[in-house]
Amino acid sequence: MSESSASVVKVIRCIVCPTGCQIQAISKGSDVVFEGYTCKRGLEYAEQEYFEPKRILTTTIRVESGLLPLIPVRSDKPILKDKLDEALIEIAKTQVSAPIEMGDILIENILGLELNIIASRNLAKN
Ligand code: SF4
Repeated sequence: MSESSASVVKVIRCIVCPTGCQIQAISKGSDVVFEGYTCKRGLEYAEQEYFEPKRILTTTIRVESGLLPLIPVRSDKPILKDKLDEALIEIAKTQVSAPIEMGDILIENILGLELNIIASRNLAKN
């Protein structure tokens, strides 16, 4: 493979362990290869992050009759990055009622993605 046909298309910091290896996604012709990882978990992370990145979604939901008007929530699994906006719109349409316990499922199977939006704290009734 000649040097001229390869180029770094993305630099990914592996967050699987504290070592924090810097992994490069390198385009070689029609393929993408990864360099800079030092273990298999790093390669798996880089492939996931490059081809199908996911994030834990964190936001708030409006609360009726709560001590506070909003409750912080998060997804219970990482969600595909390109579904984040759609999920946020769905969450913005939602209102829940107090009392709420940390870990309560406030939106089940959001967008059919097989993950739930759960409460990140307790919230008492007003
Ligand atoms: S590639 Fe392996 S050693 Fe490097 S940060 Fe990722 S998990 Fe840790």
